[in-house]
Formats: sequence, structure tokens, C-alpha cells
Amino acid sequence: STDSSDEVTKSRLAAEAQKKYGNPPPTIFSKIINKTIPADIIYEDEKSLAFRDVNPQGPVHFLVIPKTLIPRISLVADDDTELLGHLLVVASKVAKKEGLTKGYRLVINDGPLGAQSVYHLHIHVIGGRQMGWPPG
Ligand code: AMP
Repeated sequence: STDSSDEVTKSRLAAEAQKKYGNPPPTIFSKIINKTIPADIIYEDEKSLAFRDVNPQGPVHFLVIPKTLIPRISLVADDDTELLGHLLVVASKVAKKEGLTKGYRLVINDGPLGAQSVYHLHIHVIGGRQMGWPPG
């Protein structure tokens, strides 16, 4: 059934993450991936998911995440290159679908000084208003 193949996929992804990154604790984003808590999902494929941020910092604010649990950008390895490229392509395509024709901001927060709060890698895509520089 679909359910059992989902379970197989979940356990494979968990095993891969554990092997590569130690044993990172799952975050609330794992529950969004598993559909055990609701989210406003605007894109999904076998490797990634995009959903609206619950605390939007602009008229459009969504997150692009890998389904595999990479805790943070500072822990990526050479073999994540293709996946990371994929996440950027997804961010760009969904931004276009969201109508962000005049530009937008991508952000990846890493660690305490980067103000990361959820330790499951995510790309913020924020748009629909004028951004400033430098960021806060
Ligand atoms: P960061 O500070 O970069 O780790 O960003 C985490 C982001 O996740 C914040 O912008 C939160 O508003 C967002 N967030 C946390 N929980 C949820 C959730 N359940 N659904 C959607 N976005 C969330």
C-alpha cells in the first residue's frame, strides 16, 4: 500500500540522515513532511517540500526544505551538492508561481549567531515588499 511504502521511505531517509549527521533530533518540520501536523504546502516532490511560514516576514514567505534531515547548512557534505542545487531551483520556481516577478530574498540561517531556530535545513523565500540591506 501507499502507507507501507511511505514508511519504507521514512525509515530509509532517517537511516541516511543518521549515518551522515549522527543522530539529529527530528524537528517540527519532520511532522510537516510526515503530514502529522498541518502546513500550507505549496510544492512537493520526492526530495523537497515548500510551505508557508507561520510567522511571515512579508506578503509572501515560504520555506523550502529537504525531506532528508540535514540539520544545518554548516553540516552539508560534498554529496549534498545536487540536493542543495535542487532546493534552490525549487525556491526559484515556487517564487515565480507566487508571482514574485520583481525580486525577493533568500535566507538560510545557521546556528546561534545566524538566529536559526529550527534545526532542519530550510531556505526562507521572502517577497512582496522592498527589502533592506544589511539584514538584521
Ligand atoms: P529559522 O529561524 O531560520 O530556523 O526559521 C524557522 C522558521 O520556521 C521561522 O520563520 C518560523 O516562523 C517557521 N516555523 C516554525 N514552525 C513552523 C510551522 N509549524 N509551520 C510553518 N513555519 C514554521
